[in-house]
Amino acid sequence: MAYVGAIDQGTTSTRFAIVDHAGTFVGMAQKEHAQYMPQPGWVEHDAVEIWANTEAVITAALADAGLDRTDLAAVGLTNQRETTMVWDAATGEPLAPAIVWQDTRTDALCRELGGDHGLDRFRAKTGLPLATYFAGPKLRWLLDNVDGLRARAEAGEVRFGTMDSWVMWNLTGEHITDVTNASRTLLMDLATLAWDDEILEIMGIPKSVLPRIVPSVGLIGRGRGVLDGIPIAGILGDQQAAMFGQACFDPGDAKNTYGTGCFLLLNTGTQAVQSTKGLLTTVAYQVATGKPRYALEGSVAIAGSGVQWLRDQMRMISDAPEIEPLAKSVEDNGDVYFVPAFSGLFAPYWRSDARGVIAGLTRFSEAGHLARAVLESVAYQSRDVLEAMEADAGVDMVELKVDGGMVVNELLMQFQADILDVDVVRPTIIETTVLGAAYAAGLATGFWSNADELRKHWAEDRRFESSMDEGQREALYASWQKSVAKSLNWIE
Ligand code: ADP
Repeated sequence: MAYVGAIDQGTTSTRFAIVDHAGTFVGMAQKEHAQYMPQPGWVEHDAVEIWANTEAVITAALADAGLDRTDLAAVGLTNQRETTMVWDAATGEPLAPAIVWQDTRTDALCRELGGDHGLDRFRAKTGLPLATYFAGPKLRWLLDNVDGLRARAEAGEVRFGTMDSWVMWNLTGEHITDVTNASRTLLMDLATLAWDDEILEIMGIPKSVLPRIVPSVGLIGRGRGVLDGIPIAGILGDQQAAMFGQACFDPGDAKNTYGTGCFLLLNTGTQAVQSTKGLLTTVAYQVATGKPRYALEGSVAIAGSGVQWLRDQMRMISDAPEIEPLAKSVEDNGDVYFVPAFSGLFAPYWRSDARGVIAGLTRFSEAGHLARAVLESVAYQSRDVLEAMEADAGVDMVELKVDGGMVVNELLMQFQADILDVDVVRPTIIETTVLGAAYAAGLATGFWSNADELRKHWAEDRRFESSMDEGQREALYASWQKSVAKSLNWIE
């Protein structure tokens, strides 16, 4: 068996990739699923569609590579994090649409749960602020709002899970989640890696609905159906998987992933570093019975989805790559700034009252300036989190490894290096998320023997170095900060 497979159940699509021993992709298939936005601020997925797509992409990728499932030594899973669902324990039928991580319906609930203690009520234990982003309050919302759900949950008839749990339930029959996904619920104690009884009590969540927490790298069980009999051996939340795929195994290693959102993670080793600057403390991974490794994370809600907005809602471009020539049609941003606070602002601000702003418009402004402002907003937001990270961890970053769908955009990469004044380093493989899940499954089953072997797969494609003078850099960043201030206090 010369290959390892990996499922990537993402926010906009699901893929299956097959890699060989050298870490080279030999087969891949991808399928998008529908995004339901039934009200402003709400985002939902159909979990049945997602599972059907998962089966379809596995079959298609195997066919693409001319392989049979029995050619796979193991299969791993990575997934969009925090997206929350409930299903019937007996029939496996979803009991409500899945609530996506970007959904803001739990805003008032989060404030209520914080009460007099404020939004950092559970931070010491969980590493997270109370925010609409995380799974726990979404589960509480379902228990409060889906007819009869709480009674059925208390009778032991309901299963809760993030998308890893849902895929694993369908693939192996196990009701499990891995430590990285569990660390995004606001329900798990980072030190003990167990559900926290006190928080469950305050949140009003019956323990019987929760999955069993397992390590990220380790044998889970055997697949069924399309992967019948194949060892399923790893789960990592998407950002943790990207970190794994970038071979960020040592304390001090960091990566920034530019996809739907933007996620900067710094490996802090066996230390769970608490943030005072608005970052998250999260589990990076855990290998079988070993000690967990932790990360500091700066999560930005809108990055590539700002480009999608320009395409689908503003109709200024017809596909995402067109943003680059449009942005290059003007010399600079023309003093236009775009703050994509569509679902409030995540790290380091955590302001659910913020909404999107286009600042600095004049009669001179044109589409090219807005395109540039959309791209630049991704770089400014990354600087916001990088500065917070340097302060929290007491490190001075000299280079940043990048990955994700947006890093093909060279204008963005160059601007990122300019505005950070650090080297931005793009590897040859930018599909690090799905690669990381393959690495996890391959390590668990002995397909790869250790991290060193994986480090050797990493190779630099291109390095972007800053070529902007200090005065210009700081003037641009000051205008960005002014624009952020204008986005705040929109929702009363
Ligand atoms: P995810 O895994 O979060 O679904 P990907 O890593 O696949 O995201 O990246 C897709 C995102 O990248 C989309 O939001 C898309 O708008 C954006 N994108 C793709 N190509 C480009 C490009 N050339 N320039 C800017 N953005 C791009």
